[in-house]
Amino acid sequence: MNSRWSAVGALALLGAAACQRHEAPVEPGAATPEALIEHSAEFERQVVEVADGVHVAIGYGIANSILLEGDDGLIVVDTMETAESAREVYAAFRRISDKPVRAIVYTHSHPDHIGGAGVFADGAGDIPVYAQRELVRNMERTSIELQPAITRRSMRMYGSALPPGAVINVGIGPFVDVHEGSTVDTLRPNRVFDAALEDTVAGIHFRLEHAPGETDDQLLMWLPERRILLSGDNFYRAFPNLYTIRGTGYRDPRTWADSIDRMRALRPEVLVPSHTRPLRGADAIDAALTTYRDGIRYVYDQTLRMINQGMTPDEIAARLRLPPHLASSPWLQTFYGDPAWSARSIYAGLLGWYDGNAARLRPLPPAEEAGHMIALAGGIDAMQRQIASAAAAGDHQWVLQLSDYALRIDPGLDAVRDARIVALRALGEREANPNARYWYQMRAGEWAGDFALPPRIVTPTPEMLARMPIRRFFDAMAVNLDAEASAELTIAVGFEFSDSSERYTYIVRRGVSELVDGLRDDADLVTRVSAQTFKEMLAQRRNAALTLARDFEMRKGGKLELVRFMRLFAPVDG
Ligand SMILES: [Zn+2]
Repeated sequence: MNSRWSAVGALALLGAAACQRHEAPVEPGAATPEALIEHSAEFERQVVEVADGVHVAIGYGIANSILLEGDDGLIVVDTMETAESAREVYAAFRRISDKPVRAIVYTHSHPDHIGGAGVFADGAGDIPVYAQRELVRNMERTSIELQPAITRRSMRMYGSALPPGAVINVGIGPFVDVHEGSTVDTLRPNRVFDAALEDTVAGIHFRLEHAPGETDDQLLMWLPERRILLSGDNFYRAFPNLYTIRGTGYRDPRTWADSIDRMRALRPEVLVPSHTRPLRGADAIDAALTTYRDGIRYVYDQTLRMINQGMTPDEIAARLRLPPHLASSPWLQTFYGDPAWSARSIYAGLLGWYDGNAARLRPLPPAEEAGHMIALAGGIDAMQRQIASAAAAGDHQWVLQLSDYALRIDPGLDAVRDARIVALRALGEREANPNARYWYQMRAGEWAGDFALPPRIVTPTPEMLARMPIRRFFDAMAVNLDAEASAELTIAVGFEFSDSSERYTYIVRRGVSELVDGLRDDADLVTRVSAQTFKEMLAQRRNAALTLARDFEMRKGGKLELVRFMRLFAPVDG
């Protein structure tokens, strides 16, 4: 949800609920920036031996990586966000054991758990990689179809371009170890399962169970003889990210709570989450898990109660509060997730985008609404005076909402832009949720021209590209098709690959893509290239113009027509 939409939403309420919300005094138990600073102790960099042969690397990146030492080999559970952070953890693990890594387990599809797998496999290409079946589809959607949006939003949420010292911690880790030039080296899972899988590797007997929650491909790993539970991201020391502001599909809190109930039923003696520190002792673990599931169910149940009473997402977000005993729990501090964001996500997840207000069914386009609001304020000068007085009163949220209108009509209003930057910085400064804190600060920096976000930050290694199916690269082309430029065009292009027997015909039909297996006889163009070159070009490891000129061979039609075709996928040719 962007700031324009929330501005419109709050105005639809006109007043009471929205004003109460941001003028309310800090509630007892609510997180503060000072508490966020103390929370950094959670991420002190070290490898902790939780139980005999069970080691957790904490503080090397946003996530933990877990080492299980068996008789004649090792299992690594979760592999960090990049090859670079994985190398640091791998070196630390090598100080513990020189046994070979026999298997890798991914607790779920998020990039901070799969990005460095190739490093741990250490050249052994055929190592078993365990994951729940849904993982591959989720990983590909995030890393291919939605890559630009998720990259941009993740950078804002994690404060990626902020000056040194600005990032206190990122709530569930000290920082995200992703920089321009970082590489990812994800291995594709080759031991997938639906509901459960039991196995023994290097003498370590384990059971993997599908445990949907933070993702629908989440698993839990249970070592039954030792009562050790690896919980992935369904539990960590912060309010759960029932919704993440970097953008996500629906995370069903009911299913999440059910998965935690199954974890409780196991009565683990040791709990090793994939973020924040491990816990020991059956009673302490049970108490923490019970609080956690209660926090999730409270938000879910009370949101539905308010939905059924007829409230809109804005109204529910303004009203929903955890009860004091949950709000003050160390397990539910809002250092990552947030109950109000969660409530909005539950609404959208169960009822979709429409809030039931007839005024929102076909709202005025944003520019038209802004024009009316400025006229209502008495013109742009009067609107600027309103913004200045809101700024003077310290009503930073109102400055953001009013400046949305003013800047939409005239993006060159320097005084309004400056007021917006000041408001964003002030909101960031007092914000205890790191995701929101860095989002405000990043947007301030972007408005101020301190930095611009790169379109892409991590690059897949050539080895990782080689492992990815060719079809996925055509998916990336489809979501980049310039519908306007191809509005009147119908063209079929055959692709042959010199290093693969796969053949495809890519059809553009008046603004729409269709990929067909095999080479169609009536293709307008047929080209031949190595699949690896094609993938590296689309992943922007190679200059597109040069690659098209040098490495693509024409079997039918001319090179210029092929170049014209590839230009329809603008960012790809960028
Ligand atoms: Zn994670």
